[in-house]
Amino acid sequence: MVIRVKLINSQTNSKHFAQYFYLTLNQPIFAMLRTKKSDTNSLTLSKGTPMETSQKHHAATRQTFPVAPQVWGLKTLFVNLFYVANPDGSWVLVDAGVNGYAQQIRDAADEIFGENSRPKAIVLTHGHFDHVGTVRELAEMWQVPVYAHPMEFPYLTGQSNYPPPDSSVGGGAMAYMSFIYPKKPIDIHQFLEVLPPDGSVPGLEGWHWVYTPGHSPGHVSFFREEDRVLIVGDAFTTRDAESAIAVMTDKREVHGPPNYYTPDWGSAHQSVEALLNLSPKIAASGHGMPMKGDELLQQLEDLVKNFWVKAVPKYGRYVHEPAVTDERGIVSLPPAVNNTVPKVLAVAGAVALAGLCWMAIRKRNETHRQHGQQRQYQSYRKERPYSHNRVMTGMPPTIDPDHDNPEAHTNNYP
Ligand SMILES: [Zn+2]
Ligand SMILES: [Zn+2]
Repeated sequence: MVIRVKLINSQTNSKHFAQYFYLTLNQPIFAMLRTKKSDTNSLTLSKGTPMETSQKHHAATRQTFPVAPQVWGLKTLFVNLFYVANPDGSWVLVDAGVNGYAQQIRDAADEIFGENSRPKAIVLTHGHFDHVGTVRELAEMWQVPVYAHPMEFPYLTGQSNYPPPDSSVGGGAMAYMSFIYPKKPIDIHQFLEVLPPDGSVPGLEGWHWVYTPGHSPGHVSFFREEDRVLIVGDAFTTRDAESAIAVMTDKREVHGPPNYYTPDWGSAHQSVEALLNLSPKIAASGHGMPMKGDELLQQLEDLVKNFWVKAVPKYGRYVHEPAVTDERGIVSLPPAVNNTVPKVLAVAGAVALAGLCWMAIRKRNETHRQHGQQRQYQSYRKERPYSHNRVMTGMPPTIDPDHDNPEAHTNNYP
């Protein structure tokens, strides 16, 4: 009996694992690889009309998981998107998942809101490929605007590539695989609108957006003040994005933004601090299941305090110096770090690496915990490198000694 259960689990895990790596190798295959929702996500099957039941009780539907009243999540392969409703039943889609999931996103919307329902808008936390995979298809079909922060526009209008992902960061198979993720920006300029500067969220009552750059230049999070519900995109995650095992098991735990795609750690640090200051009661991330209550707050506070030990990789292209960006895209990049792992070998070895990384990460976490305890009383603010992309709190704006020679800038200030 025990052996049979183990076999089932191992089959399930290897299926998910295989799906993850198919994803990175061949995007069109997404449509064939839709995961079935596990029973843990299908807490309650609603009866009656979807609007009457799902919204009133904020229950999960067959495909979604509950986040908070009038907020539902849908996992597309390994990335979440969210349906957020108003009391009158109108709604907005937050993010658009990975490519190949448009039909499932529509089906889930039908379940929650009724047949052929369409949102008032799509709003984006950021434009990474795993959050905008279906955005063009859905915006065209629903004929709705797509809202994003202006600093994210270059990567949504084909104007600029994102700063290249850093495959040299430590931390597991995901990082080593990152070099084959799509890097070309999409172009959805015909649907794109700027998020209102007053912080309101178009189509949603009671929500406002919060600027949380670092993981991407125009990253935003969404906050509902009334019950302190937070949708954080990738500003922080609620599972370890660097661990293939954690990706499969969905263990809830606050972590920093995904390493391989974060080009500005100073800003990322300030952003998680800003989110902690909102005292969220529930936080739903792009990666991992929602977290709430004391567990969320304590782990988030710990992340802010020990960010440079727990979230920032030890080595990597952007660890000491951020990518500099403006509203037209990349301005300058720190030099690439030599990745000693040959790329072909990295692909072949990724599966084996995942297992090894699991052990390494456990060991590293243990070391981090010890470090964290030792450093608890030091000011974590001192560890922050200066970021060109946002002004640090309490710092004079003229701190940059290379002000007269922007070509020669460096952030490795003593
Ligand atoms: Zn991202
Ligand atoms: Zn993501």
